[in-house]
Amino acid sequence: MAQEGILIVFSGFSGAGKGTIMKELLKRYPDTYALSVSATTRAPRPGETEGIEYFFKTREEFEKMIEKQELIEYARYVENYYGTPKAYVEEQLLKGKDVILEIEIQGALNIKKMFPRALLLFVATCDAKTLKERLLGRGTETLDVIHARLKRAGEESQGMENYDYLVVNEDLEHTVEQVHSIICNEHKRVSHNLDFIARIREDLEGFLKGE
Ligand code: 5GP
Repeated sequence: MAQEGILIVFSGFSGAGKGTIMKELLKRYPDTYALSVSATTRAPRPGETEGIEYFFKTREEFEKMIEKQELIEYARYVENYYGTPKAYVEEQLLKGKDVILEIEIQGALNIKKMFPRALLLFVATCDAKTLKERLLGRGTETLDVIHARLKRAGEESQGMENYDYLVVNEDLEHTVEQVHSIICNEHKRVSHNLDFIARIREDLEGFLKGE
């Protein structure tokens, strides 16, 4: 029987390269991972497509989703709502896929409370200066928004100790393989293999009875 998938939370400073790492991970291991697409009230950036990067919602639509308990978690981030739709995550985990949630820290901590076996990864740049340069280089946000995101990064840095692993993204190739290998190791954790243990125990008992 396939092992149930692991819930993986991937957080990190805006601009640290989370999105790119995730895209690459999915491209290389499409049968292993499923990426949850969040709902948000933020406006689409140029090039973003409904249902690919996000499900773009009005504030009213988002609040309806909260009311109908369609979200596993949600948080406010720099004036907008972001949340994880429940149905897709549950369906993919049952199929044995490792489901990746690319979410900010409040949501991550809520997930850990609800799913203690979730794996929490945090991605950072090697220093603060590099982060600022990447945000400026992206050219998709106004200076005010960049400033707000840097401020938020400072706040998020206060919660980094709550994560299981820290990944410093200096070289995409290396980072992607590092993340994949952390997840592969996580599958070996005894707590993710309780079905295997029960089965082998039962088979061994069967042998003993047959003797
Ligand atoms: P961005 O606007 O740059 O796409 O995302 C802003 C922040 O919201 C990022 O840190 C991203 O990880 C986070 N985020 C995206 N989707 C969700 C979600 O469903 N829930 C939570 N809590 N955060 C999210």
